[in-house]
Amino acid sequence: MATSKVLAGAQVVLPTGTLSNGRVIVDGTRISGSAPADAETIDLPPGHWVVPGFVDIHNHGGGGASFTSGTVEDVLKGVHTHRLHGTTTVVASTVTGEMDFLAQRAGLLAELAEQGDIAGIHFEGPFISPCRKGAHSEALLRDPDPADVRKLMDAAHGRAKMFTLATELPGGIDSVRLLAEHGVIAAIGHTDATYEQTQEAIDAGATVATHLYNAMPTLGHRAPGPIAALLEDERITVELINDGTHLHPASFELAFHHAGAARTALITDAMDAAGFGDGRYMLGPLEVVVLDSVARLVEGGSIAGSTLTLDRAFKRSVTVDRLPVEDVVRAISANPARLLGMYDTVGSLEPGKDADLVVLDAEFELKGVMRKGEWVVAPN
Ligand SMILES: [Zn+2]
Repeated sequence: MATSKVLAGAQVVLPTGTLSNGRVIVDGTRISGSAPADAETIDLPPGHWVVPGFVDIHNHGGGGASFTSGTVEDVLKGVHTHRLHGTTTVVASTVTGEMDFLAQRAGLLAELAEQGDIAGIHFEGPFISPCRKGAHSEALLRDPDPADVRKLMDAAHGRAKMFTLATELPGGIDSVRLLAEHGVIAAIGHTDATYEQTQEAIDAGATVATHLYNAMPTLGHRAPGPIAALLEDERITVELINDGTHLHPASFELAFHHAGAARTALITDAMDAAGFGDGRYMLGPLEVVVLDSVARLVEGGSIAGSTLTLDRAFKRSVTVDRLPVEDVVRAISANPARLLGMYDTVGSLEPGKDADLVVLDAEFELKGVMRKGEWVVAPN
């Protein structure tokens, strides 16, 4: 079989705009600027789209397998499940646990990052607010002491990409500074911070809002809280979970329009049930029940991650929220790739980058997924 492929006849979304009847040339593992004579041409049906592979910076698992507690095989199964749904680059997120357990987890995940199976590690907890703990185990929460943050950073052998912190807690601002100094994303989330405290954390170097709206105080008329501070600041990229459950469509659209396509990252915050089904699961040490695709803690009923996959978030953003396809591509591929410092290799369809792409039909249903030049899902 030819190692060069030309995908032809689709609407191709490039950073500069959309080509109708465009083509994408794949040579080996990368996108190429010109097609060799022996290239195999794949004609896509009219109305199909070719977009960059999706990049998920906040994801706890899928396919019945967990990034937060499973074996190496489990993690790979979760990664593969999300690839089948178009996510060609994924950061593995942990949940609150004992420090020793998290350090051990970091070691396992760092090896997978080394091999290129995942893009790195996101520590969500234990440095979060007991007032906004969501599906995190309260007994194991702790203040963001920079020495503890450092411990996990070291255990990750340079593969820690992001920490979610309640920056208003003791040590929070110093931890933000420590992370920023080391090129690790400090994300503000599971926080009870005021508007002013949030601004202070941004000034210290925080650059991401962990699932904006969820697990933080609401926007008030006298107390604008973190939401206003995060939405208005040009230095912040806001994560949004667009599954129709975590956010009302109007709240999603308000945030997207306010932050703009350049400062939004669509994430899944998926847990094991994503791409799998309803049932009983564990999220770290807590029991979760998934009913009608909505994951909730057995105790207390808090929403416990999502069962979202990014192909569904893409489709919903275009068909329900009526966002331009180009804006959705920025939020689901380019911006998260930039945040991870990986935009030179993934996040857009440009010659020299990895051949990571998704084929969608005219209704925005996923029809094909390619990663590093190989079909994960072949279009037929
Ligand atoms: Zn999460």
